[in-house]
Amino acid sequence: MPSEQSPPATFITTPEHLAQALGIPVEPLQAVHAVYPLRVSRYYLDLIRQHGLPLWRQAIPDPRELTDSVGLTDPLDEENLSPVPCLVHKYPDRALFLVAGECAMYCRFCTRKRKVGTPDMIIDDATIAAGLDYLSRTPAISDVLVSGGDPFMLPLARLERILKALRAIPSIATIRIGTRVPCTLPMRVTSGLAAMLKKYHPLYINTHFNHPTEITAEAELACARLADAGIPLGCQTVLLRGVNDSPEIIRELLYRLLRIRVKPYYLFQADLTKGTDHFRTTVDTGLAIMRHLIGHVSGMAVPTYALDAPGGGGKIPLTPAYIRRLDDTLDFTTYLGHDCSYPNRIDL
Ligand code: SF4
Repeated sequence: MPSEQSPPATFITTPEHLAQALGIPVEPLQAVHAVYPLRVSRYYLDLIRQHGLPLWRQAIPDPRELTDSVGLTDPLDEENLSPVPCLVHKYPDRALFLVAGECAMYCRFCTRKRKVGTPDMIIDDATIAAGLDYLSRTPAISDVLVSGGDPFMLPLARLERILKALRAIPSIATIRIGTRVPCTLPMRVTSGLAAMLKKYHPLYINTHFNHPTEITAEAELACARLADAGIPLGCQTVLLRGVNDSPEIIRELLYRLLRIRVKPYYLFQADLTKGTDHFRTTVDTGLAIMRHLIGHVSGMAVPTYALDAPGGGGKIPLTPAYIRRLDDTLDFTTYLGHDCSYPNRIDL
C-alpha cells in the first residue's frame, strides 16, 4: 500500500530537525542559528553520515562562529564596491551580479554569510533591473559572473529571463555562473536546466567542491549534463582547516574533479570573514600544498592558489618561491628540489 506520509522535505532548516537527524544537542545549534542561517540538503546530510567530519564542518553550525574576534563582516568590501545593490564592480571589465539570495546549503565558511540566506539579502525584480541597467550603460564590462546565493536555486524560467537579458547587452561577451548545487544538491541539475543554459553560450560554470567524498555518482551526472551541453566547468575550492588542509586530500580532490570533467580553477585561501576564523589556515599551509602539487600531478589538475585581498583589492596569486635570483640569469629550484638556471637576457 502506498504510504500516506508526505515525502521528506529536500532540506533541513531548523536546529530542532537537525539535532534530531544527527542525534546531537539542540542548544548550540539554536545559538548559532539565532545569528546565521541554517540549511542542509537531505542529500548532503547523507554524505555527512557516510563521510563524517570534513563534510560535517562545512554544513553544521559551530559555536565558534559566535566567538570569532578576527573576521570582518564584509571582508572583500563588496558593499562599498556596489554601484547598485547586488552588483559588485571591482575589476574594470568584470562584474559580479548577485541574482539569488538562497543556496542549497548554507556553508559555515561562506564569505557572504553576513547576508546569504537572511532577510538582509534583498534580491527582487527591482535589483535585477537595476543590475541589468548598470551593465547596459557600462560597456567596459564584458564578463559577468552570475552568482548569489546560488543561481541554480532560482526557478528555471527566472534564471532564463536573467540570462536572456544579459545576452541582449552587446558589450557582454562572457557569462559565468557560480554555483555549488552540483555539489550540495546535484539532482537539481536536470536535463531541462542544461538544455536551457546551452542557449546562452559562451557560458562558463564554476562550481565548488572542497573534499573528494563530495564527488559522488550524482555529482558526476550533474557535471556530465552541464559538460554535455558544451559548458566548460571549473572548480573554486576553498582551503579549510579540518576539511581539506592536507596535500593528500587536495590531490585526491583534484584528480576526482578531472574525472568528472571539471577543471580545478582556484584554490582559495579562506577569506577573513567574521564567524569563520576556525576554518582559516596559514598561507604557509597552502604554499606547502602547492609544492606537493606542482610538478607532482598533471598540470591540468593544478589550480591557482589565490588570496582575495581584504578590502576589495582583488585576487593575488600565491605561488611557492621557485626563483632565487632575478638578473641576467635566473636560478631556480625544480619541483624535485634540484638547482637549475636559465639565461634571462636576449643578445641581439
Ligand atoms: S553555496 Fe556558496 S554562496 Fe551559498 S553559502 Fe555556500 S559558499 Fe556561500
